[in-house]
Amino acid sequence: MKTLLTALAFGTVCISTAFADWPINDKCPVDGKAARPIYRIKTKEGPVAFCCMDCLDKFEKSPASYKVTKKEYQK
Ligand SMILES: [Zn+2]
Repeated sequence: MKTLLTALAFGTVCISTAFADWPINDKCPVDGKAARPIYRIKTKEGPVAFCCMDCLDKFEKSPASYKVTKKEYQK
């Protein structure tokens, strides 16, 4: 059920900012590529997104090695 809800959330991009678990970054902290919200984990700062599963794994193993750049919210 949770998977279905997540899929629905991604289908409605225009209201995505209303979701509290939307990633805080839009660039992968590991290699700087465009982050994709489907690859994300929760951190103390908030949900962090990555470009791929490999980067997510690297970050999870040593979160302190990478700096997450928070995206600037559009007004
Ligand atoms: Zn990456």
